[in-house]
Amino acid sequence: MKHAYSLALWCMLTAALAGLYRLADHAPSASADGDRPLVLLTEDGPRTMTMAEYLPFALAAEMPVSFGDEALKAQAVAIRTLALAGPRHPDADLCADAGCCVAWLDEPALRRRWGADYEANIAVLRRAVATTDGEYLAYAGEPIQAAFHAASLGRTEDSGALWASLPYLVSVSSPETARDAPELVSSVTVAADELALALDLDTDAPPEMWVEQLVPDGAGRVDRAVIAGKEYAGRDLRGLFGLRSTAFDLAWDGEAFVFTVSGYGHGVGMSQYGARAFAAQGMDYEQILAHYYPGTELVSPAGQSASGWPTKNISTPAVAASRPASSNSSTVAKAMFLPWRTTLARAVMYSPPAGRR
Ligand SMILES: [Zn+2]
Repeated sequence: MKHAYSLALWCMLTAALAGLYRLADHAPSASADGDRPLVLLTEDGPRTMTMAEYLPFALAAEMPVSFGDEALKAQAVAIRTLALAGPRHPDADLCADAGCCVAWLDEPALRRRWGADYEANIAVLRRAVATTDGEYLAYAGEPIQAAFHAASLGRTEDSGALWASLPYLVSVSSPETARDAPELVSSVTVAADELALALDLDTDAPPEMWVEQLVPDGAGRVDRAVIAGKEYAGRDLRGLFGLRSTAFDLAWDGEAFVFTVSGYGHGVGMSQYGARAFAAQGMDYEQILAHYYPGTELVSPAGQSASGWPTKNISTPAVAASRPASSNSSTVAKAMFLPWRTTLARAVMYSPPAGRR
């Protein structure tokens, strides 16, 4: 009898100790994001963390906290989806380079940026992540290439205009206007001789005759331009002159050529300013995502174990990141703007789907 009592006590003790051990070091996560490991390639090399640890800091780097809860939730789902659609690097799910995968900032960097607002801001972002715990967008059962960009000012771009055509990355309306974001209309001024040099022009015509034609694509962006008898892809001009998007006009103003550019980014997928505008109109994040990624399904592994996640082996070779030339976002534009807008500046570059390479 005494023996049985000691055994019971021992069992209770070990159970309690095991519980403490779990709490201290191996706390079981109550969230799907907490159960999903993620390898992030940073400047200091690969870092292993959970999706729950990763997302608030990627969200912080991608969207201003002021954009509102529903826009932030939509953005959190889009980033989570991109992370799940990888791996995008041989030894990592994705990298922290805004020019390649998704922007990400560590805590010290965010503390420097936000100062006394750090705790309040990060709490808002953690909430956006937690309330969408584990949710991702799927098409035909697979996480989608949830591309996003800063702003479209009217219509988003069809993925087929830049990469391969994906059924859920088609041109849709986007509510943001120049009035919502006056800073999203920008201009780049180029002297005639600089333009001639950059485009390798050979013409005796006066500059006011050089711009012959700007041919729009289905979303109203410049598909190609004919300048002094030569033809250029809109995305090549964007890369060459550091334009913020391919939605531009080009004119001679009497002294120089002026590109007047609308929006920011490649224009494919969700517009971040559009998400903010939709949220301000009362749309929730599910409606926002359904608008920008038509035909997709919002999947929630919440309540399931880690096995509820789509799994990818990150040791498999990554898709070569042969990004379109236009995605070499402009260092000129980047240098001109505030840090958060810098991260908005470059479109989210996702590798073009395999079929296109
Ligand atoms: Zn990357």
